[in-house]
Amino acid sequence: MRTLCIQCRRPYEALPEIVEELKLRDYVQDKNVVLYEPVGCPQCAGTGFRGRTAILEFLAMTDPIRRLVLKRADAGEIQAAAIEARMRTMFQDGVDKALSGITAIEEVLRVTNVS
Ligand SMILES: [Zn+2]
Repeated sequence: MRTLCIQCRRPYEALPEIVEELKLRDYVQDKNVVLYEPVGCPQCAGTGFRGRTAILEFLAMTDPIRRLVLKRADAGEIQAAAIEARMRTMFQDGVDKALSGITAIEEVLRVTNVS
């Protein structure tokens, strides 16, 4: 995922419909939900982005999941158990990075294919 250029990124208040649709209230307690957008400057050759970072999905191995893996359950079954165990999805990790100004929310959506 591309990261925003910290020289020129610009904070803005997220639109209410975006806050609603992406459930950003689950992440932010403040009154205003602030996201960042690319601008473009000489440092980033006018693109607004500079560098890359990974977004990660983290699966903690729990006993129920271990049992499923051992009995060779299919991926869907394991995923359901993982979500129940509050696995952090790539989308959630990306949203955290958008809210801390590391990237733009559009970039998270592009990479995780959620719209
Ligand atoms: Zn820049």
